[in-house]
Amino acid sequence: MERTPLVAGNWKMFKTRGEAAAFCSEFLPLVDDLDEVDLAICPPFTALDIVAERIGDAGVGVWGQNAHEAAEGPYTGETSCRMLIDAGATGVLLGHSERRALFGETDEALARKLPAALAHGLEPVLCTGESEAERDGGATESRLSTQLDGALAALGASQVLQVTIAYEPVWAIGTGRSATPEIAQDTHAFIRGALSARYGEECAAAVRILYGGSVKPDNAAALLAQPDVDGALVGGASLDPQGFAAIARAALEG
Ligand code: PEP
Repeated sequence: MERTPLVAGNWKMFKTRGEAAAFCSEFLPLVDDLDEVDLAICPPFTALDIVAERIGDAGVGVWGQNAHEAAEGPYTGETSCRMLIDAGATGVLLGHSERRALFGETDEALARKLPAALAHGLEPVLCTGESEAERDGGATESRLSTQLDGALAALGASQVLQVTIAYEPVWAIGTGRSATPEIAQDTHAFIRGALSARYGEECAAAVRILYGGSVKPDNAAALLAQPDVDGALVGGASLDPQGFAAIARAALEG
């Protein structure tokens, strides 16, 4: 099945509103003609509206970096799916490894957040990935299975079809040590197989699986050329418009 490549930039806690606006002005002309690749940016919450205004209309997805499952309530510091949409978001990252490691995000919480995102019409991106110790100990597949089973527990095949999965090995995030194209392909094929076993082949063939972890302009083409790598989730390199545009273009060669 043909899956349209998707390249998304996770800005984490970087860029003020002014810096976000400047990025958009420089980035958009660089990707204006890139119709065959879907693009998205995950700005910090404070810059969602600016990014949505500047590049949302040009078809670039604008995603939150996290969401609370309740529509509103006494949850200090949290942001609901409804509020993300109100600020201009079209999607949301869920379960990023930094949320899991630093803020105690659990698979159980993700099992509540994913249906909430879908119910609000936000495109959810479920981040998964093993630690270095888990890979070295041969526990990559069991870790990924636990994450997929736990987070997708409340969804049926018709809903899983609307979810994008990101495979982001923790040891590759922000380290400059990307997975090799072979490791990325093998692991993506495992994830697709796990989805197929649970939700059927048709569903698994339609779900996009992004690779994330030290993707740069010079390694993107080889990673994106792998048959089960349907795009990239880019952290550090997405902060620079030229570099991020180069990664987006590499998806065309994939
Ligand atoms: C990320 O945080 O999602 C990520 C992939 O970061 P980096 O590209 O900087 O490794």
